[in-house]
Amino acid sequence: MTNADLPKNLLPVTCPVCGESQNTTVGGFDANDLPAGTVNCMVCRHAFQRDSYIRALELRRQEFARLTGPGEV
Ligand SMILES: [Zn+2]
Repeated sequence: MTNADLPKNLLPVTCPVCGESQNTTVGGFDANDLPAGTVNCMVCRHAFQRDSYIRALELRRQEFARLTGPGEV
């Protein structure tokens, strides 16, 4: 297994508890490039609810798209 197995557009989401953006995932990813298992905060071990994780991830993708500009997406 290599890092190439990770979805290239996966961004870490911000933890609502400690504010860090470092996630750990268990169980790999599904066909939609979403975590198939549990996502935890690497810092405080908060377990993200799947719905809130997906919402946060979508926000991060939008932020990232603004940062890089439309020409880069
Ligand atoms: Zn945390």
